[in-house]
Parts: sequence; C-alpha cells; structure tokens
Amino acid sequence: MGVRRTIIRPGAGDQAAGESPFDSPEFVTDVMRVAKLWHYVLIGRVLAFLTFAFLPGVAGFLDHRSHWLVMAAGLPCDVVLTVIGQAMRRPRPIAHQRVRTMAMLCMALIALGTLLNAAAMFAAIAVPDEGSYFDAFTAIHVGSLLVAASAAAIVRPAFFTFAGATVLGGAIGVASWPFGVAGFIFLGLLIAMMREDVRHQRRATRAARLAIGDQQRALNLMRDFERAGRGWFWETDRDGRLVYISPTVAARLDRPLAHLLGHPFTDIIRKRVGKDESEERTLGFSLSSRTPFKELTVQAAVPGEERWWSISGQPISNEFGNFQGFRGSGTDLTDQKRSEREINQLARYDTLTGLANRRHITDLLERALKSHSGQPQPCALLLMDLDRFKAVNDTLGHPVGDQLLQQVAGRLTQIVGDKGQVGRLGGDEFQIVVPQMSQPEKLAGIANAILLSLAKPFGIEGEQVRVGSSIGIAVSEGPGVSASALVRNADLALYAAKDAGRGVYRFYADAMHNQASERKAIEDALRDALAKDELQLLYQPIVDVASERISGFEALIRWHHATAGTISPSKFIPIAEESNLIVPIGEWIIRSACAAIAELGPGYRVAVNVSPRQFANEKLPATIVNAVSAAGVRPEQLELEITEGVFLDESAENLAMFQKLKRTGVRLALDDFGTGYSALGYLKKAPFDKIKIDQSFVLGAADKNSMNAAIISSIVGLATALDMETTAEGVETHDDLALVRGLGCSHVQGYIYGRPMDLAEVVALLREGGGRVEAKGFKSTREPRLTVFRTIQIDSGGYRYEAIVRNMSPRGALIEGLWNVPAGTRLTLDFGAGQSVDAEARWTADNRVGVQFAEAVEIDALIGLKSAAPARGRVRRAA
Ligand code: C2E
Ligand code: MG
Ligand code: MG
Repeated sequence: MGVRRTIIRPGAGDQAAGESPFDSPEFVTDVMRVAKLWHYVLIGRVLAFLTFAFLPGVAGFLDHRSHWLVMAAGLPCDVVLTVIGQAMRRPRPIAHQRVRTMAMLCMALIALGTLLNAAAMFAAIAVPDEGSYFDAFTAIHVGSLLVAASAAAIVRPAFFTFAGATVLGGAIGVASWPFGVAGFIFLGLLIAMMREDVRHQRRATRAARLAIGDQQRALNLMRDFERAGRGWFWETDRDGRLVYISPTVAARLDRPLAHLLGHPFTDIIRKRVGKDESEERTLGFSLSSRTPFKELTVQAAVPGEERWWSISGQPISNEFGNFQGFRGSGTDLTDQKRSEREINQLARYDTLTGLANRRHITDLLERALKSHSGQPQPCALLLMDLDRFKAVNDTLGHPVGDQLLQQVAGRLTQIVGDKGQVGRLGGDEFQIVVPQMSQPEKLAGIANAILLSLAKPFGIEGEQVRVGSSIGIAVSEGPGVSASALVRNADLALYAAKDAGRGVYRFYADAMHNQASERKAIEDALRDALAKDELQLLYQPIVDVASERISGFEALIRWHHATAGTISPSKFIPIAEESNLIVPIGEWIIRSACAAIAELGPGYRVAVNVSPRQFANEKLPATIVNAVSAAGVRPEQLELEITEGVFLDESAENLAMFQKLKRTGVRLALDDFGTGYSALGYLKKAPFDKIKIDQSFVLGAADKNSMNAAIISSIVGLATALDMETTAEGVETHDDLALVRGLGCSHVQGYIYGRPMDLAEVVALLREGGGRVEAKGFKSTREPRLTVFRTIQIDSGGYRYEAIVRNMSPRGALIEGLWNVPAGTRLTLDFGAGQSVDAEARWTADNRVGVQFAEAVEIDALIGLKSAAPARGRVRRAA
C-alpha cells in the first residue's frame, strides 16, 4: 500500500519537518518488523522469569513480591506485542491509519514491557553488600555492552561475534558453566531471531525489487509506445499546466519540451471558430468541471499543418480525495481523418472533374430547398448538356473528351463561383444548384454567361475543339417543390432548349409537361398507326434539270390521325426514332415504295428516307432485298436517303453497313447535305450516288446578299469531282431554279415542280405530261416588303412571347423584341383574330430576328387589311 502511494505521489514517503515519525511509512514498517520478532523476546523473558523463580541462584525471588509481580506484569506486554506481530504477517492489506496506531501501541508496549522487566531483573540480582560502587560498576558494564551492541548491530555478523564473545567471555570471567549454558541459550535465541528477520527482510527486498521491476517495465513500455508514435501521454497540475508530456508531441509541435512544461495544456490544441468545434467545447468543459473525457477529436496546434488528435483524460486526486490535476493519453488521427476524407471525396465527387457527383449534388439540392427550420426556401436548378460532345469523343478519342469535360468543369465553376454548386451527373450532363435565387433575370444572366463561355473553343492537345451547350432552368419558390420534381422540370426545360435548336437556355413552364405528355400520347398512338392504316406515303417529283423530265420521286410519310388530324413527320419521326418504332414503320415504307416503283414502271426511281436508327439495324439489307424482290423491281430504282447524322458514328460497323447496302444494288443519296456534321472525309469512304443540297441553302439563294450561291457551287464542284449527282431541295421560285441550274445541279426537287402527292396523283401527273413537268411559282423569293408596326404573340418551345413586326413580305418578316433566338428556331406567329403562321428564324441581331414563313402568306389578310380568310399559303386559324 505504502509502495503504491509512493508511485502516485512522488515524495509522499518523505518525512516532512515537524511531522511525527509515525507519518513515515518506513518507520512504521520497521516497528512492525520488530513486533514480528517479539516472540523471541517473549520466550527469553519467560525463560528468565522461570529461572529466577525456580532455579537456585536468585535467592528469595519469589519471596520478594514486588520482584516477581513486576516481572510478570511485563510479560502481558510481550504477549500482546507478539500477537500484533504475528497478526501483521498475514498478507491482508490494512489501512494506513490503523497500522500507524498499531505501531504507536507497539512502541508503548516495548517501552513498558522492557521497563518492567529491567526493573525487576536488576532489583532481583542486586547484591546489597557490595554497596553503590558495585551498582555503578554494573551500570557501566551494561552501558558499555549496549553501546558495543548498538555499534555491532549495524552489521549482523559483527553483532553475533560480539554477542558470542560476550557470552563466552562472561562464562570464562565468572568461571561458571551455568553462566555459559544460559548465555548460549540466549545467543541461540538471538541467532534464530536474527535469521528469521533476515529472511523477512530478504523477502521484503525481493518484493520491493519486483515492484520496482514492474514500474521500470511499465516505464520502458510507455517509452517504446511513445517513441513508436502510436500515442502519447500527458499530465497536468491542478491549474491545468503540463507537468508531463511525451517528447514526441514536443517534436511534432516543433517546440522544446521545456517550453511546453509549465504551460497550459490547452496551448497545444488549435482553437477553431465556427462549425464543428463541439469537441473542443466538450474538452474545455471537462477540464474546468474536472470530469473525465474520452477520445475527443481536436486539432493540434501544429503551425502550417493540419493534424488531428484523439485525446482522453482522467482527473487525479491524492489519498485525501483532493484534485491534483489531469492525466491522460492521446493518439494521432491525421491519417485516419485523411483516409476518411479520401473515401468521402470518392463517394461524393466525380473523379474526372472533381465536381460533386450525382449523389452529392442531389443531396445539396435537397438541402438547398429547405431552410434550417425546415421551411421551403427559393432555389434554382440549371441542367446543362453539351452539344456535339459525342462527336468529339468519337472522332478525337476519349482522352480528348475527358480533357474537354475537365475544361468545361473549370469554366462552369468559375462562372458559378460561390453563387451555387456545380455537379456532373455523368457523360456530358452537368447540374448547377443555385440556392436562394429565383429571379429569372439573374438566372438568365448565369445561363447566358455559361452559353457564351462554352461556345468559345477549347484548346486540347494543340487542337481547337468547339462544342456548345443547352440549358434547362427550373425554379422552386413559395410552397416547396421536391428535389426530384425540380430535376424533372429542369429536364423538360433542357429538352425544350435542345428542341429549340440547341445553344440556348429555356425556363421550365407548365406547358412543357403537356408537351411531354403529348409526346407520350403520340408515341402510344403511333404504335397503332400502322395497324389502323393511318400512315400514308406521298411522293414529290425530282426533276432532271437538263431534260425537265421527272426522274423519280421522294417518298414522304404522312400520318392522318383519327382525331388530331395530319401530323407532320418532323414531329413524329423523332418520336418514332426514340421509341424504335421507326424500324417497323421503315419496313412498311420500303415495301410501299417498292410497290409504288412497280406501279410507276421501269423509268422512274423512288427515294425513301432512312433514319440513323434504321441504318443501325442489321436487318436493313435483308429487308431491302426482300422488298425489292417481292415487288419485282430493279434494286437501282430504289434510292436510300441517308442524313449526315449517321456519320456521327464513324465506326467500322457503320462503314460495313454502307458496303452491304451497296451490294444489294440500291442507290445511296446523302440527304440534307451541309446541315449537320459535315466532315468531308466520309464522302470518300461511303459509296454515295447523289448529294441532296439542303433547302436552307437553296431557298432564296438567288438573293444578291446571300452567300448560298457560293456554297451550292462548291457542293456541286465536290459532287462532280466524286462523280455524284446533285439534287437541290426546296426550289420554289424561278430565280432560284435558274440559279441552281446555272450552278450545275443535275436535279431539282421543290414546290416549283410539285408538292408531295399521293400515288394516284403521281400516276395522273405522269400520264398527263408524259413525264415532263413545268415549273410553276413566284419569280423571286424577295418580294417587296411592307413596313408595319404590329404587336403579335409568338409561341416557341412551349413559351409565349410578345414582339413587334417591323416589316414583312409574303415570305418573311422582321421582328423586334426577341432576344437570344438562334437561327433555325421554329416559331409560330400569332397575328390575333385567330390567324397564325409557322416560321423559322433565319438570322438574329440584338433583339431583332429575321423570320422566314413556312409558306408564302397573303399580307393583307394577316394584318387585317382584307377579310381574315387565308387566300394562299398556310395561314392557320388557331383552334
Ligand atoms: P427531307 O428528307 O429533307 O424531305 C424534304 C422535305 O422538304 C419534305 O418535308 C418536303 O415536303 C419538303 N419540301 C420539298 N420541297 C419543298 C419546297 O420547295 N419548299 C419547302 N418549304 N419545303 C419543301 P416533309 O415531308 O415535311 O418531311 C420533313 C422531313 O421528315 C424530311 O426531310 C425527312 O427528314 C423526314 N421524313 C419525311 N418522310 C420520312 C420517311 O418516310 N422516313 C423518314 N425516316 N423520314 C421522313
Ligand atoms: Mg429526304
Ligand atoms: Mg432533305
């Protein structure tokens, strides 16, 4: 017990000045050692008593009552001491306070017993006749013996030598054998007693050595533990100042150990303000309230480095329960924190761009939609998709695609800044969460900045890569919208943006939902359209320019829906493509076209449009071969019109399909040339017989200001060089016809020679003209313009805008008040009084847009100079 206390409180065993010797554990232990040997003293004294009483020598001992009673009274003291001594041999721990009392009792008993025994003995052996000289002589003799005994007691063998010599000397001196016998009995007793004490002492020394060994071992283990950097230890005094800290911590903090000791423990911990400082508060609380704490995560005050510790501590008190300070341990958590962070990073961020991944951005969106109190708060979501990303990936390779995505991510984060969070959903899809923002003009500002920035070229591996982007925006305001609903809305808005010609942004409007459900309804109805016989093929003449004879027809599909009326192919073909319904419909088209060829006879060809999905279907060649042989026509009478979209994927399978189709014997025409992804390389690889110049180059090409003539001329040059025919599509006026003829186009297709018509009309036309047709139409595209100032409503992509018509002709108009309308955007102009016209944006400058009507209109009827009845063209009455 005493030993344990010594470890806890160094110096506790030292006897402080002025304190009683019984406060010293060492002194108490020594007293107890004496008590443990007292039975030998008891035996000796009993022997002396019996000798005095019954052996001849000390005459009249029993006669002198005062002698034997005093001597006998001393014996119980010895008995009690013996009992205490023997009781102390048991290993049961006894409270320090009790041991102390017992030691005091022992000392009293030693004094009392020895006093009584000595008084009686000296009284009994006193020789009355010898007088006071003899008494003095005896006292001096005893005194010298005691001094010599005490000196010899320092070394035990010396003491035994002294004792033996005293006995022997005494025996010789008095020349008495009884003296010798008695002396040697006591010497034997002394030796036995000493031996036993030595044994006890050895045992105690061994135990103490073991205890010290344990301490040393614990200390060594602790040092090894510290040195290995597995952890560290600390201790403070009652004022919270360090009295011990592992040297490794000092090294880590780059401060000498001496600078840490004596300073507050909290100095080694970095104080953080703001979020996540709850653990530090717990530490402060525990230290001031003197309560234990366990595994608190704190940041170390290491300059210029982020280092984390986990610390535990326990208050320590002395034996009286008084608080003495804290003692505890710490471990380094930095690596664990780092790997936690890495795992976190992997789970929440996109590895390619470092942006938030789908899961994390969805999480952020959910959080942004709700305030701390759970109330809905405004938030906007921008969904962005790159245009032409697939083409970059396919042609320049995936590493370039990856670098492009990284650069896009960089530009996006720079634009969005701290206004919001950018995430990558996968592929080329990005999502931007803008919390606390709902004002359309601000969101439009962000969207515009993104569109402009991404439209600029990206420099990758020495190449200039250009892509564009489309953005859908959805806003949550007032009563909250769920995250998934907001994503769906933004998705619909993005769809509308792409539909409006890409490179633009669109806000979500409820009408988009209707469009989406309309698409779904079209898709459902289209599944039954074939079975219900609602599909029809119309045929538009293609005329050989040199001979003005019809060389063939293009088969164009029409869908007469039972309730919705005629639905345009530009509306349902994309839906058929997406739902893969184009494959059965395409088969039907090819079979019907072959049947038409059979009916028209061997002098005419029929062209059918083949969509990219159909082209990718490996059964296409077999379908063609079957249809041709079933109709009994020559394969070269069938022409497949393939759009440039097919070349987005310049794969080996793609080129193989061209070869297979060519082997069936059909002719191949490249449709809509110049509108899509015009890489000229594929013209060499794919065996085309004809190039169809898109009508956007042809319509109004004769206009002096137009560059189209030059474009047509170069396409014709290219086709001639490659030994291909050319068909100019969309020729409506005599001026344009003259132009394309002059530029060397071999064929012309357009309203000037006839609109798409059914097979019966085709047969009648051929019979009537014997294969010759006459050009009928306006002289020129650009007719005189009428200056007007009229406010109209414009529908586009599900939105309705207001704008002003500044001037117009039968074919187009100049409109003011519309921003950000890319060329090619389809618009419906509502002139009021139920009159509307379909049109397409041709050019744009600031807030002015030049539009071209889908068909020529009568101006007077539109602007109300005449009765509202449409005289010509497609002026529709709104439902
Ligand atoms: P396309 O293959 O380029 O067809 C030519 C389009 O131009 C047709 O429109 C035709 O009516 C129109 N057109 C012809 N001459 C003129 C003209 O002088 N002026 C004007 N403004 N337009 C003229 P349509 O029939 O509405 O077809 C639109 C597109 O839908 C087609 O473009 C084609 O890509 C697709 N399409 C039509 N029928 C089919 C089909 O059976 N299968 C597939 N896969 N696509 C088809
Ligand atoms: Mg076509
Ligand atoms: Mg075309």
